[in-house]
Amino acid sequence: ETTFLNVRDIMLSNLPKKISILLRQLGRFGDEIGLPVYTVGGFVRDLLMGNPNYDIDIVVEKDGLSLADLAARKLNAKLVKYEKFLTASLFCKDGLRIDVATARTEYYEAPTELPQVEVSTIKKDLYRRDFTINAMAIKLNQKDFGLLIDFFGAKKDLDSKLIRCLHTLSFVEDPTRILRAVRFETRFGFKIEQQTARLMLDAVHQGYLEKVSGQRLRQEFEKILEEKSVFEALKRLSDFEVIKHMFPGVFYTSSMEEKLRALFMFLPWAENFFEKLNRFYAVMYVFLEYHSENLLEEIRQRYGLSHCFVSELKVIKKMIVPLSKMISLHMEFSDIYRVTQSFSSEAFCYVASYLDSQAQQYLKEFLEKVKGTRLKVNGGYLVKNFNLKPGRLVGDILEKLYCAKLDGVITDESEEEYAKKLIESVFSKVPEQ
Ligand code: ATP
Repeated sequence: ETTFLNVRDIMLSNLPKKISILLRQLGRFGDEIGLPVYTVGGFVRDLLMGNPNYDIDIVVEKDGLSLADLAARKLNAKLVKYEKFLTASLFCKDGLRIDVATARTEYYEAPTELPQVEVSTIKKDLYRRDFTINAMAIKLNQKDFGLLIDFFGAKKDLDSKLIRCLHTLSFVEDPTRILRAVRFETRFGFKIEQQTARLMLDAVHQGYLEKVSGQRLRQEFEKILEEKSVFEALKRLSDFEVIKHMFPGVFYTSSMEEKLRALFMFLPWAENFFEKLNRFYAVMYVFLEYHSENLLEEIRQRYGLSHCFVSELKVIKKMIVPLSKMISLHMEFSDIYRVTQSFSSEAFCYVASYLDSQAQQYLKEFLEKVKGTRLKVNGGYLVKNFNLKPGRLVGDILEKLYCAKLDGVITDESEEEYAKKLIESVFSKVPEQ
């Protein structure tokens, strides 16, 4: 199936000038040290698809570190080497990043006195990758510049929009590829090839996801959460029973799906609004709301969730239904504020997952109002001007003032006057001794 296609023209028309010049330079550096140099992986895939990608992946046969050294010197780039893995990263002045890896040549010990035989080069490197479309290389050395090397029929799969693994043990070898398949499928609007889909499902059924560390699974899962078509991707993960196996006790029902739809409708706004928001935690609120204590703790440990998250979830899941009613009924901002004062940004997203778009709009208005509302007076002012003892009463009065301001009952101008009235009414209610 191996094909060698000249893609020099595609490179010239699809790549920014800066990048095609850089690739030519890297090829010449390879010539200087006498080693074959290729660009590989997602960069090649995106180039052929016409998608912009500025992370250049380079593979050098035998000795990537020498090429990285030379390139860093000639390009005046910052070099970070990982000697143990024979890889390096170059950070160019103009923001480009180049990752360089080594295709290690393994020697085959011949049984006779013959010299050792080279058996593995770029082909073996590409064979270790996840899917055909990610397993192409383009040679960069001057003589062959622009030669597309396709051992596994990747170009054909790209044209027929298929995600296909390279061998039958692919998902057993690395089960995180199951999540990657879904990620690329939904991102590009491709289809996971039939045999590949069968192997994925087999690996899931045989419990291979459970053998992977929570940290690695979380990493791939979080990449899916960053995709544009995240909602479709989660649905595909549930088709392959990945959700069920990664998060025991989570059932991907239609009501779960509606909550996720609402959540992802709200997220773009929320990410812009809040300083910090973790998508993984936001989704975990929706996934784990009905979990028993034990299962929750098991999942918390596996994926390194914080204790804080678990205790917040336990509190909020009890009030989520009445709270979402309050918002849907457009109750006063102060009423909502009193309940949600200590909520994290992810908890607000969880609330939003219970709301239709109209109610979400009201929640946004509420959050904007809270963000834009500050009191002029503070506790010190109350203590000094009204002879109060610092403590609970001062806090209560500040909260009452703040709530009145949220509801538009008072303004900056009437704030002090209102504080005075509040304090007077408190003292008039205290029975004389
Ligand atoms: P993205 O656009 O999301 O960065 P990418 O294809 O560049 O896509 P990376 O995760 O950066 O994805 O991986 C770079 C390359 O390394 C891939 O194209 C693939 O060839 C290879 N690769 C990454 N992860 C795996 C894996 N788990 N198994 C096999 N090969 C992998």
